[in-house]
Amino acid sequence: MKVIVVGAGIVGTCSASYLLRDGHDVVLIDSQGPGECCSKGNAGALSPGSCIPLSGPGMLSKIPGWLIDPLGPLRIRPGYLASVLPWLIRFVIAGRAGNIAGLADALLALHTNTFENYEPLVANANCQDLIRRTGTLTVYKTDGSLAGSQREWRLREERQILQRVLGSGELHDLVPELSTDYKHGVLLADHGFVTNPYRLVCRLAEQFARDGGHLERYRVTGIIVRDGRVSGVHTAAGELIADRVVIAAGAWSAKLISGLGIRVPLESQRGYHATVQGSGSTLALPVASAEAKVYATPMEDGLRFAGTVEFAGLDAPPDFRRAEALIQLAKDMFPAFALGKVSQWMGHRPTLPDSLPVIGPAPGHPGSLFAFGHGHLGMTGASTTGTTIASLVSGRQPPINLVPYRPDRF
Ligand SMILES: Cc1cc2nc3c(=O)[nH]c(=O)nc-3n(C[C@H](O)[C@H](O)[C@H](O)COP(=O)(O)OP(=O)(O)OC[C@H]3O[C@@H](n4cnc5c(N)ncnc54)[C@H](O)[C@@H]3O)c2cc1C
Repeated sequence: MKVIVVGAGIVGTCSASYLLRDGHDVVLIDSQGPGECCSKGNAGALSPGSCIPLSGPGMLSKIPGWLIDPLGPLRIRPGYLASVLPWLIRFVIAGRAGNIAGLADALLALHTNTFENYEPLVANANCQDLIRRTGTLTVYKTDGSLAGSQREWRLREERQILQRVLGSGELHDLVPELSTDYKHGVLLADHGFVTNPYRLVCRLAEQFARDGGHLERYRVTGIIVRDGRVSGVHTAAGELIADRVVIAAGAWSAKLISGLGIRVPLESQRGYHATVQGSGSTLALPVASAEAKVYATPMEDGLRFAGTVEFAGLDAPPDFRRAEALIQLAKDMFPAFALGKVSQWMGHRPTLPDSLPVIGPAPGHPGSLFAFGHGHLGMTGASTTGTTIASLVSGRQPPINLVPYRPDRF
């Protein structure tokens, strides 16, 4: 079967790679090179036990405090408030107590086999070194903030996710460079990270091309529908025809599928990083500060501090003061780190109000499949999304129950 995959981020690249392994004739199209957008500069955590929806009970009361500080963990650019308000209302509604268990189960189903589903792809591309299963750590300064995360622990505990609370001694033995202001840690021992997310996408895409896949650099301008079936895409270079079209265009997917008359409430949650070369850090695993909401990851190109959520849409220029603020927060976490050469980056997390992506066939549009909206966890969710998309195209039972990810659930 001829299959077009639109978007060579981590989600599209994993999907295209699995489709090729099934023997399909696959074209992976991106307007830029592979991995140039959100999959490039993220924190790289692979979190098989991640099952906490972004929105939850009590969230509303925290938002004003976050918004007061213009460089705090959450920012809505003033001119964008009216545009994002309907999405925010859906977000708060999605976090009602009665929804949480179902969302947690669906998140877990997508994430639990992340390592297993990356394994054949990275083995084939001979880049196993990019993935490490070191555990990840969340650190807390106060008893109060540790107690404040009880709901999250309980959700994980109920799902038998391996987690261990570390007291101050164990915590500082594990991460000697961490500020002594931090008193507690929660270790998720079977989590891990990608040491360079951008290089991972590039290596998988290069291998895809070596194995006979077609990697094309076009901007897709529309979806072709003929005789009631999605049958290809319009590009700047003309029409491309296929039996199946997979939309994996990250935060830009909603705009692309609007031509089919389908509306999905996809919003960009813009995030930033600052990566410091020559920091002198010996950190061996990702460490997240629960209070500062900063993720520190020891990447192969330096110590990366990633985080923050900014609502400003797809077109506003980055505000790199937010990346600078991450450095200030990082100094509070690791007082001794040296400020070497710093690079900054902004990416668009493709996010739906209920924290779940859209995965599966587009209702009423045979021939098309959607795979987007992975939000804060797309590196983790991409490998299982890839196997799922390939199963659907090849007529196998998908590895996860697709009901929670239906495109028409909104
Ligand atoms: C600061 C930050 C930290 C993060 N940390 C983590 C983490 O630790 N762990 C984790 O699991 N996830 C993390 N994420 C989330 C993760 O990065 C994303 O969920 C994931 O990268 C999304 O991948 P994607 O392939 O859907 O989108 P993208 O990587 O954005 O790819 C979409 C692709 O589609 C292409 N495209 C769009 N429109 C068109 C068009 N019309 N024609 C052709 N091509 C098109 C784009 O060029 C792009 O290459 C983080 C994100 C951020 C911002």
